[in-house]
Amino acid sequence: MTHGLTDTAAHDPVATGVWFAPGRVNLIGEHTDYNDGFVLPFALPQRAVVTAAPATGARSRVRSAQEAEPVEFSAVTATPGDVPGWAGYVAGTCWAFREAGHPIGEVDLELDSDVPVGAGLSSSAALECAVGVALADLAGIEPGRTELARIARRAENEFVGAPTGGMDQMASMHGRAGHLVFLDTRDDTVELVPFDLHAHGLELLVIDTRAPHAHADGEYGARRADCERAARELGLPALRDATTADLDRLDDDRIRRRARHVVTENHRVLAVVELLSTGADPRDIGPLLDASHTSMRDDFEITVPHVDVAVEAAREGGAVGARMTGGGFGGCVIALCEASGTGRVVAAVESAYAARGWTAPAVFAGTPSDGAGRLS
Ligand code: ADP
Ligand code: MG
Repeated sequence: MTHGLTDTAAHDPVATGVWFAPGRVNLIGEHTDYNDGFVLPFALPQRAVVTAAPATGARSRVRSAQEAEPVEFSAVTATPGDVPGWAGYVAGTCWAFREAGHPIGEVDLELDSDVPVGAGLSSSAALECAVGVALADLAGIEPGRTELARIARRAENEFVGAPTGGMDQMASMHGRAGHLVFLDTRDDTVELVPFDLHAHGLELLVIDTRAPHAHADGEYGARRADCERAARELGLPALRDATTADLDRLDDDRIRRRARHVVTENHRVLAVVELLSTGADPRDIGPLLDASHTSMRDDFEITVPHVDVAVEAAREGGAVGARMTGGGFGGCVIALCEASGTGRVVAAVESAYAARGWTAPAVFAGTPSDGAGRLS
């Protein structure tokens, strides 16, 4: 499969092969996706890899290197509720594939992934998208990247039952090395924005705080409800349509702050895209990353001490900009750093954690990488 496919096309079914899809990290644009807003993620080098072939038995079978037992299910008949646990992401993708009008046969799948699970780097979307591109090639069709992302999202929302937006799957499908995926979640239009860190002597560190996720699901639902209420009170289809002036029309302080985060975050995404697509020094986005964090901390109230401490320490260690990334209440922090200064940033975060008796975070370089495809 090559990049940029948009039309459904046919090719000869593939007998067997190996496909991959990456995890993702969001550079900026947090909690904007369910408000019809803008996000700016990129695909990571960490990926799920799947070896797939038509089934040798009567039913489908999936094995994961990260799970003890294989799971059997029917790719041809499974519907939501039939396959619990991790294999639901896989069976769900088969189901959503059929729901989209693409008949498939039973399959044998072997999965392996180095995307950290539950860190907010979208190990789930990596799994779904890897299975999605494999199913497309096995069936001999090219549904296009956006349609495959929608199929994968449907698996997660309706089969697994996780009410997430569409950013993760779109980033995993549309990612490109050296680029960000600028996504308008209102109509799923995608623009690739150059983000060649190494050419500018920069590195983007991903700091997995390994903070315990507490109440994340309930808080996510509460933020969604607050945003819907704000849009309703303003008489707008979604907060995407609100302006800064509209915020004064919201009486409740909490609702106004929630809305202010979404409105200003959308502005920050557009400002980052403007800077990077007009050839500015990527260092210039640092203040926007910092402002995004402050907004998540004070207005949206989705940060936790592990995250705030990592952001503060990264800045003190010389980061050009730093913010929490992902849904919040734990997960990862990103820090834009001089390539020559990453050691100082990591040391600052590690010593801030050690001083509090916290487990050291896991840190790796987030390099914008290619989206899903076939390996062999
Ligand atoms: P995230 O996507 O942020 O990593 P999620 O809770 O959305 O976290 O998805 C994590 C779930 O995805 C795991 O609990 C597991 O069910 C499934 N998963 C991810 N990677 C694998 C894998 N390599 N093998 C089996 N299941 C996986
Ligand atoms: Mg996920």
